[in-house]
Amino acid sequence: MPTKKIPAKTVVKTPVKKASSVKPANKVAAKKSDAGTPLSVVIRRRIEAQKARFHANDNISKFIQPGELEGLVDEVAEKMQAVLESLVIDTESDHNTKNTSQRVAKMFVKEVFNGRYIEQPTLTKFPNVSRLNELMIIGPITVRSACSHHLCPIMGRIWIGVLPSKESALIGLSKYSRLTEWVMCRPQIQEEAVVELADMLEKKIKPIGVAIVMDADHFCMQWRGVKDRDSKMVNSVMRGAFLKDSNLRREFLSLLEKR
Ligand SMILES: [Zn+2]
Repeated sequence: MPTKKIPAKTVVKTPVKKASSVKPANKVAAKKSDAGTPLSVVIRRRIEAQKARFHANDNISKFIQPGELEGLVDEVAEKMQAVLESLVIDTESDHNTKNTSQRVAKMFVKEVFNGRYIEQPTLTKFPNVSRLNELMIIGPITVRSACSHHLCPIMGRIWIGVLPSKESALIGLSKYSRLTEWVMCRPQIQEEAVVELADMLEKKIKPIGVAIVMDADHFCMQWRGVKDRDSKMVNSVMRGAFLKDSNLRREFLSLLEKR
């Protein structure tokens, strides 16, 4: 596949929950529901009714109905406008900031935090017909995320090592990038993000082992704070065979160094 990056637009697919052509009145997405309740509150109530979690790095797509993301963008834009006003920025006569609230809202909901709001990309799994059981390394996959603490960008790379079993279900190479992007497009903590990705791959592929290495620049260390431009964070997760077999682990890590 020639393209490595998935254009954000192809990912921004609102999940179609029902294939009916006519939407029943009660299924129509709430914009500002009944008594002027903000849409975020409507969604939040659905989540709480199911006792589900909605931390920054959780996906809440199943609580969002088709069409509601647009409404969320509008709500975030309204509040972002209030933030700009509190920052004492004259968004009326400063043409540069005139539509900033709308742009930022759209960026959050539809792009950089989109992994919270859209369903997991579909992964076509195919049986391991040639019964591969050799180490596979996928990467580097470009990672664009943001830290949950400051909402500052995290830019980095990920390598995934998979040791499939003869019974493993395999997924296409591009799916590793799509899955990674889906997990990373949320406010994250690097350590938790790699664990989540490893859990997901274990569940999907059922391999003998999974290993992930992530190497990233944290802009909250560069743009603010200590302003250390060279600080990077590297962390890894080793599962199954990668944990038990030090030769396999060494092989994986040495192959990364050559890239
Ligand atoms: Zn931070």
